Amino acid sequence: MTISRRVQGIKPSPTLTITAKAKAMKAEGIDVIGFGAGEPDFDTPDHIKKAAIKALEDGFTKYTPAGGIDELKDAVIGKFKRDNGLDYDRPQILISCGGKHCFYNLAQVLFDTGDEVIIPSPYWVSYPPMVTLADALPVILETTEESGFKMDPDRLRRTITKRTKALVLNSPCNPTGTTYTEGELREIADIVLEKGIYVISDDIYEKIVYDGFACVSIASFGKEIKERTIIVNGVSKTYSMTGWRIGFTAGPSSIIEAMNKIQGQSTSNPTSISQKASQEALNGPQDLVGVMVGEFQKRRNYVIDRLNSLEGVSCIKPVGAFYAFPNFSSYMGKTFRGKPIRDSMDLADYLLDVARVAVIPGAAFGAEGFERLSFATSMENIETGMDRIEKTIRELE
Ligand code: PLP
Repeated sequence: MTISRRVQGIKPSPTLTITAKAKAMKAEGIDVIGFGAGEPDFDTPDHIKKAAIKALEDGFTKYTPAGGIDELKDAVIGKFKRDNGLDYDRPQILISCGGKHCFYNLAQVLFDTGDEVIIPSPYWVSYPPMVTLADALPVILETTEESGFKMDPDRLRRTITKRTKALVLNSPCNPTGTTYTEGELREIADIVLEKGIYVISDDIYEKIVYDGFACVSIASFGKEIKERTIIVNGVSKTYSMTGWRIGFTAGPSSIIEAMNKIQGQSTSNPTSISQKASQEALNGPQDLVGVMVGEFQKRRNYVIDRLNSLEGVSCIKPVGAFYAFPNFSSYMGKTFRGKPIRDSMDLADYLLDVARVAVIPGAAFGAEGFERLSFATSMENIETGMDRIEKTIRELE
């Protein structure tokens, strides 16, 4: 059987190898500390679950409009107004099956063969394959630890060519936690307008920010930039609803209409019950978000201090999201009982085998020499995991 060339061009995610191995070890009864999770370890709040139960009891279990119910679109419109000072109408909003689905649909409608899409690295693992699946070309714009993994405006300007269609902006960023300030975003917005490209603003971690930081949307700087911005967001991370699969896109109505067309001929509507639950998430009490973020902040402070105290390791303090992204490059080239640690994958493998700690290799995010540790796990796990890492990396020669 021949698999399509389109799919053959997609590399399997390096995260899968580590995650599958960690899972197999756990199934054998080995106590593995998992720093791999890309989701909050908190339960979905009760009032949201109750809204889903009510939807079930009310028989709200049939097809809905492919692009989502009006009540949820209105809740999303309310969220943009409240949080971002942005005005959208229903034709500018689409509800999809998670933020990932939003990005996938968007790539399908926005990109043509040969279009270039600028993706700053380190990047979320799924951006390049989704761009490739749309027959476009991911152009990786490297950022450095020294700059806090922020794009250099001059380099961004120089990276844009006649074929550039869009820039992917992910603030707060998975995996680095890098979060752009209003001033930095204004500089990016100026370049986007000057060059006449689009910006895809993936705001999925918008609410998971620390030290009182408040995210500003690049779309809020005026009519022109709003028309060039497509916002991707969702309920997964903010409300601990990763399994419910609800994301939303806001942007020019022509783009939303085209995405709706794809959705109508592929997945149809996102789950009816999840839509009702998401409506409650957005319209209901927001205090539990703050409780969760407060807990993440304590863990972040602890894990970053521990990582920076490791010999030869440096780690920037993330302003958002729930990942630490330490630089372990001084360990590359070392050996364990004669076995070489050549790269981030080898180190992740070693930490899993010897320390029984699962981390995600930086290579998955386009950043060799780094590892990603999610602190969306209990403080107790973080303490034990860090003790194990500290002890184990000392054994490298
Ligand atoms: N964008 C980023 C940067 C992410 O890290 C994720 C999930 O890990 C998503 C989008 C998609 O989230 P979901 O599809 O669960 O809404």
